[in-house]
Amino acid sequence: MKTKPKIFISFLSGIGLGSLWGKWKVLRYRIHALRPKNTFLYALVNASEDAIVNINVDGLITGWNNSAFHMFGYSEQEAMGNPVTLIIPKNKMEEHQDIIRKIRLGEKIENYETERRSRNGSILNFSIRVIPLRNKKGEIIGFSEILHDLQYKNEAQEKQAILAAIVSSSDDAIISKNLDGIIMSWNHAAEKMFGFSEKEAIGQSISIIIPSDKVDEEREIIDTIKKGEKMEHIETTRKSKGGEILHLSITISPIKNNNGVIIGASKVARDITVRIEAEKQRVLFTQRLQELNMQKDEFMAMASHELKTPLTVILANLQLLEMMVEEESKIQFVKKALNQSHKLAQLVTNLLDVSKMQKGMVQVEYTYFDFLQLMEDTLGNLLPAYIEHTLLFHADKSKSYRIWADREKIEQVVVNLLTNAIKYTPPTNRIDIFLNRTDTDLFFKVSDEGVGIPEKDLSNIFLRFFRVSGTAASFSGSGIGLYISSEIIKAHNGKIWAESELGKGADFYFSIPLGNNN
Ligand code: ADP
Repeated sequence: MKTKPKIFISFLSGIGLGSLWGKWKVLRYRIHALRPKNTFLYALVNASEDAIVNINVDGLITGWNNSAFHMFGYSEQEAMGNPVTLIIPKNKMEEHQDIIRKIRLGEKIENYETERRSRNGSILNFSIRVIPLRNKKGEIIGFSEILHDLQYKNEAQEKQAILAAIVSSSDDAIISKNLDGIIMSWNHAAEKMFGFSEKEAIGQSISIIIPSDKVDEEREIIDTIKKGEKMEHIETTRKSKGGEILHLSITISPIKNNNGVIIGASKVARDITVRIEAEKQRVLFTQRLQELNMQKDEFMAMASHELKTPLTVILANLQLLEMMVEEESKIQFVKKALNQSHKLAQLVTNLLDVSKMQKGMVQVEYTYFDFLQLMEDTLGNLLPAYIEHTLLFHADKSKSYRIWADREKIEQVVVNLLTNAIKYTPPTNRIDIFLNRTDTDLFFKVSDEGVGIPEKDLSNIFLRFFRVSGTAASFSGSGIGLYISSEIIKAHNGKIWAESELGKGADFYFSIPLGNNN
């Protein structure tokens, strides 16, 4: 062996003659460590989870396996030939001498709990077995110490206990089965969910909880598990002992042994019956709500239609009466009746419009008209009725406001925005109306100093029947004017929007394309 002389040379050069004999003994064991080993035995000793340390009669280490290296931090090269006191804490020296004495007398030491010291000085707990080593003549030439790490054992036991407690207290059913589908474990929640006790379930085929229509699914699950794949949150059904079908969300993972071989599957199942039922109820409820909503729309359309004819007759007769009655004291009553009938007729017209819009039946009758003219006509009609407010109209009259749109419908939008501005603004305050255009679009804006709209409601005011809760109590209205206006503007491929702050007035805008001819 090439290494022998090298070690010998270094030994001679580094050490004085006085201690020659002692050092030769150390060297002998270092050389021994380099000798070829019985390969099989060596592999076996090295594969052990326990530390195995051989010691000769002089107390020097003659064997040191892998686990000893991991536990104590000394490599085999470092440990071999050193006194075993290397790993014995001072307070355990006497105890150790005692053990050696007993071994020399031929006694065996079994599962003796003691301490050893690692390279970094930490004290480790072991259960040790000490076996005497004899030569062919039967003389004791040393002993083998097998050290079982108690800390590792305790930690592993603790971990196992924690896991067992988690599994047992889980609200989800946790089941494990082998690759033949035989149930290997069954927790409390599984007992509660499926009605089989742990005793009844273990050893049985998993098919006891598989409904007949899910047999293929279970086969697929086993195939997937065999490939080492996990299946997460599969919504499926299983059956209980009493035959009840349970809706479950299950996650299945492969179980591997220490060598990484798949030996079975764990299944975590959560009962989602309540959720599935709630979902069913929700769908039914939504359907019912939609039906009722449709019925309501139909009733509204029918009622408005039926109201329109008698209202037209009432209005016509009241107008005749207005012309016929001459006495001033009586004509007041007729005027009041006429005024309210007009309001009612407007409401009915609006409701009919809403019904049509709900059915997507906004018909736009396009004509060319002058928007400036429309504004002058509308303001001319409104101003005499609202003399308490100051309505100011701003437009560059040198520009053309000819537009391709439905005059009647656009007038409806303008009237709506103006009457809202008047309604939601205290008398004497001013209302500004702006008209502008670009090359392609016409812009309209009404700006008031009224009650304003809270920011959170701005996106809702164009919805059907929406009214701002704070202002609704103080102002009469039906919450359909802005809905109709936005549908009309949308039908013209335009945009309508509002800007406001509560108590600081409101700005309403719309823009619509001018059309081809501009
Ligand atoms: P109505 O005025 O009949 O309630 P609208 O559809 O025209 O219905 O308006 C919807 C809601 O928007 C109103 O109830 C009101 O709360 C708010 N609103 C509309 N215009 C204004 C405005 N100029 N100032 C303040 N709030 C407004």
